[in-house]
Amino acid sequence: MPCLGVAFIAVVVGATAAVLKAWNSAGIKLGETTYFRVVCTAAVVELPWYRSFADLVEPRIRAYLGRYLGDLKKFERLNLEWKRVCFAAPEVELLKRKLLFSKLPVTLAEDLECLIWSWSREYQRRYNWSFRVAAGRICRAVSLLSKRYSVLVKLENLRGIKRKNVPHLRRWSWIRLVKLVLGCTSKKVGVALVDPSYTSSKCPVCRGWLRRRTYRMLICANCERKWHRDVAAAVNIALAEPRRMLRTPRSP
Ligand SMILES: [Zn+2]
Repeated sequence: MPCLGVAFIAVVVGATAAVLKAWNSAGIKLGETTYFRVVCTAAVVELPWYRSFADLVEPRIRAYLGRYLGDLKKFERLNLEWKRVCFAAPEVELLKRKLLFSKLPVTLAEDLECLIWSWSREYQRRYNWSFRVAAGRICRAVSLLSKRYSVLVKLENLRGIKRKNVPHLRRWSWIRLVKLVLGCTSKKVGVALVDPSYTSSKCPVCRGWLRRRTYRMLICANCERKWHRDVAAAVNIALAEPRRMLRTPRSP
């Protein structure tokens, strides 16, 4: 399930209790606390609504094919032009094997391609909504903290970076995330950009290389500590030096 990694660093010792309270009020379940140079609490916030695109479209494609299945038998006897249906999304291509079809008469294939395209728009809208809800919960925790402490939010500077590993349909525009954080947090909250290099590949504690165990689980080659991929990235971002200040933090 896609999620957002978030890490809070309490620079002032007394702020740790306030951080835990803010997590609670925003409904974020504390994942792990790390003690190294600073007290760092990290968590993953799951997207509240999530179904993969394949799960969303499979029953719809089944219903569509079911409607024409009888006719398909007749079509086979006719001399029609057949076309391989293009799903555009690699995560749905596998469905063809499951549903045991790849070619349809041209008009049906084009009709189905059109439908899948409009379903992908619908899916993207749902995914964006879900992402906004999850990010909104983090912004709420940040705003709560800013009532008592000076807060600086750090984000990766992903301007111009293409995220090849993220499926097309789940790609959230980075600039929208920056705007969301700037718009949904109090004006007193500072927002800074950090260098994104090695945030997901180095251990936040010992700086050793992280090796992949599963898609989401990483292990440090040096200290053998296990990390959730998004938590490791969040802690590294929280520890990184701000490179560009988008909004200066103000004391409450
Ligand atoms: Zn390590």
